[in-house]
Amino acid sequence: MENVIIIGSGPAGYTAALYTARANLNPLVLEGEISQDILPGGQLMTTTEVENYPGYPEGVTGPKMMEDFKKQAARFGTRFLYKTVTKVDLTQRPFTLWAGEETWQCRALIVATGANARYLGLPSEKHFLNRGLSACATCDGALPRFRNQPIVVVGGGDTAMEEALFLTNFGSRVHIVHRRDKFRASKIMAERAVKHPKIVAEWNSVLDEVLGNDKAGVTGVRIKDVTTGETREIGCTGVFIAIGHKPNSDLFAGVLNRDENGYIQTDHDSSFTNVAGVFACGDVQDHVYRQAITAAGSGCMAAIDATRWLEAQET
Ligand code: FAD
Ligand code: NDP
Repeated sequence: MENVIIIGSGPAGYTAALYTARANLNPLVLEGEISQDILPGGQLMTTTEVENYPGYPEGVTGPKMMEDFKKQAARFGTRFLYKTVTKVDLTQRPFTLWAGEETWQCRALIVATGANARYLGLPSEKHFLNRGLSACATCDGALPRFRNQPIVVVGGGDTAMEEALFLTNFGSRVHIVHRRDKFRASKIMAERAVKHPKIVAEWNSVLDEVLGNDKAGVTGVRIKDVTTGETREIGCTGVFIAIGHKPNSDLFAGVLNRDENGYIQTDHDSSFTNVAGVFACGDVQDHVYRQAITAAGSGCMAAIDATRWLEAQET
């Protein structure tokens, strides 16, 4: 039986592994097996430059950073398996996990399964990902290609408002493309965006195509008016897709408390879930910050919480 199993291998999972390994718990990380939704190493494996993680003054590529995280956790004895957990039984301890036919049991479980940004599903969207198209303004907004250039944001929720407002710090103009004539966002955020002199709302419009070429990346978008069917082009160097995120928490439906958007709920200021011995960290429980540094920080919290909880079970 394992002391602690960590599900997920992004910044949160690897950091939880580092800390539990240094606490002599000999952790096992189930990293996930590569598939459409699962990527060992997590979301940063899909990006190029990470410029906002402290400790890398020159920046670092996402995959190199995750390789470093993994190496550091391995140095203290963490074991890793490329397995995707398909079922869990958290109703009794020890907990049981399945990946297909294979099973493991553990005394404590750390859930670090992350989240995936939602995309529209256009082939051109995929083609220009990281070449002007992004799903994270905090991550990419400051890149030189967006400076003093028009930018397009797609979406009408609070995320889209926040991304658009943040991007006004860099772009010359920010167009918010929204499929209805009213934002879903909270009133205060929507008003702030609509009143901003650099923001233009493109109502009743959907993104029809991302335009560009291999050399320049994104050079514009074609949008379609959903009421008239008319299309028109907007020149821009950036497109930010902000139509929401999906936390990878379906595995825990009905067992762990989740909010209305599927994020696992943890106790305030800790990683404790509603099931004693199960801890959650990173983007699967964080709909606000969603950054590598915050995921790593909460991975550390989950490891410390799990270590202390296990110690308390022995006394
Ligand atoms: P994730 O990185 O999402 O990792 C989750 C892990 O769980 C994955 O390894 C997955 O394989 C695994 N998993 C899921 N389900 C299962 C299962 N059932 N069984 C086993 N394993 C499973 N943040 C920054 O700070 N700076 C940036 O520059 C930056 N750039 C970004 C660029 C892009 C394109 C994207 C998408 C995100 C970016 N982010 C950036 C955000 C950052 O990547 C996330 O906040 C961070 O990766 C979250 O870490 P995590 O460990 O919680 O989850
Ligand atoms: P939401 O689900 O609230 O909004 C998603 C937006 O994207 C909606 O406007 C939706 O349109 C649009 N959309 C979804 N799918 C498509 C599609 N296929 N094509 C075009 N448009 C699409 O997600 P958010 O990420 O914005 O917010 C999630 C939660 O996090 C919310 O509860 C929000 O309040 C919260 N949040 C709070 C913040 C804050 O308070 N500072 C910041 C960010 C998020 P439609 O409206 O037509 O459905």
